[in-house]
Formats: sequence, structure tokens, C-alpha cells
Amino acid sequence: MTNSIPSEIIDQIENIVGSKGCLTDPADLTPYNKEQRGYFVSKAELVLRPANTIEVSKIVTICSVAGIPIVPQGGNTGLAGGAVAGPGEVILNLSRLNQIRIVDPINDTISIDAGCTLSQVQAAALEVDRFFPLSLASEGSCQIGGNLSSNAGGNAVLRYGNARELTLGLEVVLPDGRIWNGLRGLRKDNTGYDLKHLFLGAEGTLGIITGAVCRLFPVARESETAFVAIDTVKSSTRLLGLAREYAGETVTAFELLSRRALEFVLKDVETLRDPLSAPHDWYVLLEFSTARKESELRETVEEILSAGFESNFIVDGVIAESGNQRQELWHLREAVSDAQKAEGGSLKHDISVPISSVPEFIEQACAAVESEIPGIRPVVFGHVGDGNVHFNLSQPVGSEREAFLARRNEIGEIVHGIAASMGGSISAEHGVGLLKKDELPLFKSDIEMELMRKLKHCLDPNSLMNPGKVV
Ligand SMILES: Cc1cc2nc3c(=O)[nH]c(=O)nc-3n(C[C@H](O)[C@H](O)[C@H](O)COP(=O)(O)OP(=O)(O)OC[C@H]3O[C@@H](n4cnc5c(N)ncnc54)[C@H](O)[C@@H]3O)c2cc1C
Repeated sequence: MTNSIPSEIIDQIENIVGSKGCLTDPADLTPYNKEQRGYFVSKAELVLRPANTIEVSKIVTICSVAGIPIVPQGGNTGLAGGAVAGPGEVILNLSRLNQIRIVDPINDTISIDAGCTLSQVQAAALEVDRFFPLSLASEGSCQIGGNLSSNAGGNAVLRYGNARELTLGLEVVLPDGRIWNGLRGLRKDNTGYDLKHLFLGAEGTLGIITGAVCRLFPVARESETAFVAIDTVKSSTRLLGLAREYAGETVTAFELLSRRALEFVLKDVETLRDPLSAPHDWYVLLEFSTARKESELRETVEEILSAGFESNFIVDGVIAESGNQRQELWHLREAVSDAQKAEGGSLKHDISVPISSVPEFIEQACAAVESEIPGIRPVVFGHVGDGNVHFNLSQPVGSEREAFLARRNEIGEIVHGIAASMGGSISAEHGVGLLKKDELPLFKSDIEMELMRKLKHCLDPNSLMNPGKVV
């Protein structure tokens, strides 16, 4: 029995999903009500854990008739508050839909339940000697349904695209409970509107993804990882151009890191060391990979570094000599967000601009926030090969944490305004959720907002599917 959901509805649902799939005990609800960033309080009193698509369909039908709002939830690792429930809302968690359905190494596709974790999907692909390229630091717990619903990006977008581009087909339970089976593994299908794109990146506001067909790729037989220091942030785009000119499609990742980001990591993770002998303001972590054996990739990477040295914009660098060294270099990049926690309050921005504007964005945004809050510490890093900068800001040393965090909206408007002035986006990969919902109309045209609201109303006229998020 909960305060707001009628007990006869809970009984009906429990008859479908069993007691394991219907949680009401406050102790059981805690992990589902947790929110990654601590910005929002989730208040679900009922968490439903169906075991298959039919069960999802049945409980969505019951909730639809009873007018009960549903918040779809995967691994609950999202960073925009999209899986947070308000009072009277039910969380529908997909974790028990966790079967790999079909792996087809000839069609190069994998058909999966939405609740499979990302690492489970990667492992299933490897079992048939194929590669699923989506890769995030949260891959052990985030789920493919959450990845597709938030159109996740990550470390290999430059080469393989984001979650949207990796998806060929979807199965979705619509807000009225009907099942749309669009599980097609086709690379060509021009039969009208491509409906899957509505649900990809919709953050659960248009329906519940229960299954997907995703693309697979050949496994990389050779890879090289380099960590280089560049003279100025402007040289990052020059280096990207050089890497592409020499190495073409084999450039798999291109990650920028500021000196402050590296220093925070070195301070926080005792086992890591600075790979270069002297400090520099800016670094780039590059990864190259190819399915070919004896590809001469190593020689190509050495040529890129030599050309950068000769042109005086690469000032130092190393190429990983072993798998361990490669992992250490990646650890430097992936530990940044965590390392920031030790430095007090942090304001985070996940923006994108055209790649050519990345250096200008960083320079303008740093100057703007430094003039607004003297002593503020920009921690700049991210997937710069995709134009995606994580523009995080740590509080000035010795300042008051809560007073700094209270300026979140004001600083957000400045940073997002600069990105928008360059034709950029206020959310490159984390989504809108609750976090950026109020800001969205400031940066989207009236026509875009109107079309999005009309689509929402058309698919979910009673606004029961993840209400209050995105639009
Ligand atoms: C350490 C760390 C690193 C991260 N790195 C990255 C990164 O590099 N790139 C990146 O893009 N993100 C990153 N993220 C954010 C997050 O991991 C991704 O957004 C991930 O795709 C969310 O998946 P999830 O299963 O946890 O979704 P959840 O957090 O459960 O949900 C996210 C949104 O999707 C909706 N949703 C979930 N499942 C479904 C479904 N089956 N059907 C319909 N809607 C659904 C929810 O309602 C919510 O709006 C990171 C997070 C952490 C904690």
C-alpha cells in the first residue's frame, strides 16, 4: 500500500509481475530513487520491475487507464535527472529485461532486450568476434534502453557515431500500452517516416523502449594510444586535422584535457603519474584502431607526432607501449569527474559547438566565468573530436560551497549563451531531463519547441510518460 497509488491497482499489477516485480518497501526503493548528481529528490513509492515486453505492455495499459504517470528507468546513471520520479509517479525499471535475443555476425547486428547492460552487449558481440562500439565510463551499470533513450555519446563517437547512429530497429511500448514492433535489422528502408528516431533521445517521454537491433563492427586487431601536450588550445583542432589527414578513419577517439583536469586526477588517484616530464597547459589523448593486422598503424601515429613536433605545436608526447600503459592513459581521462569531487562544489556543462569553434568557445567561456567569479577553476576536458566540451567549473579555493552552487543557473546561462552564439547545443550527450528543461526554450526556436510539444501530445495525449521532462 502506498500513499497515492490505489491498492487495487497495485494488486492488479502484482498479479502480472509477481512480488519480485512490484516494490513498495521504502528500503527496497532507495537505489531506484537515488539521483547521480544529488540535484533532485526522487519520490517514487512504487517501483515496477517487469520481466518481459508483454508484462511492460500490461502494466502500462493499467497505468494508462488509471491515469498513473510512469517514469521509465534503466541503470539510473543518467546525469540530467531524467529518471527521477515526482510524487504519485511510478518508476518502471527495465533491469529484468536482460536477454540477448539474436546475434547475427553476417548481418552485423545484435538484437537485445532494453535492460541489458552496455557491457553485456559489448561482451555478447565479442563472443562472435564482433565489436559494439558504444563505450561510456558507466558501461557496467547503464542499460542499452537508457543509452538509446538518452542518445548516449561516449568515447568512440568520432569513428562510429552516437547511440542513434548505432541503432537499426526498436521495439517500444507506447503510452497506451500497445507494442510497436520495429525490430528491423535493415540498413535500407525508405518506407515513410523513420519512427525509431522519435524514441531515440526522447528520454522516455514518448514510450518505453523494450528491445533494439543495433549495428556491429569488426573487432580492432591493432590499436595505438598517444598522449600529447600541445602549445595552445587552438592547436587541438590542428592536431585533429593532422591525425585525420594521416590516419583517416582509424582515428577512434580524440579527447582534450586541461592541465588543471590532469592535476586534479594526479592528486586524487595516487597510483597514476604524469606521463610527461614537464607540465603543459593542454593535452590530447588520441586513440587509433583498425581491423587490419600488420597495418603499420604504429608508424602512422609516429609520423603524426613527428609532423606536429616539426610544426612546433606538439610540445611533448608518449605512445603507449603496453595494454597497461594504454589503460593508465585512459584512466587519466576518465577519472576527471570523480577527481573534481575532492575540490568542492562543481558546476557542470555538457556543450557542443562546431569542431572549428571549440578553441574559441573554451577561451571565451573561461574569460567570462573568471570575470564573473574571480578564482573560479575551469576544469575543461571532453570529446573534442565531436565538438563536445565538458566545461566543468570548480569553486574558488576557500570559497563557500553552497553560495557557489547557488549561482548554477546564472553561470549556466553565460556558458550556454556562448555555446549558442557559436551555433552550439546546451546538451551534447547527457540530455535535457529535469536539469535543462526550463532552459531549453531559451535556446530552441519557438517552431522547434512547438513541434516537440505537438509530437509529445500526439503520442502521449494524457502526458503520463515521464511527465515534466524535456518538454
Ligand atoms: C561515470 C559516468 C560516466 C558517463 N559518461 C557518459 C558519456 O561519456 N556519454 C554519455 O552520453 N553519457 C554518459 N553518462 C551518462 C549516462 O551513463 C548515460 O546517459 C546512459 O546512457 C544512461 O543509461 P541508463 O540506463 O543509466 O539510463 P537512466 O539513467 O536510467 O535513464 C536515462 C533517461 O532515459 C530514460 N530511459 C531509461 N531507460 C529507458 C527505456 N528502456 N525506455 C525509455 N526511456 C528510458 C529515463 O527515463 C531517463 O530519462 C555517464 C554517467 C556516469 C555516471
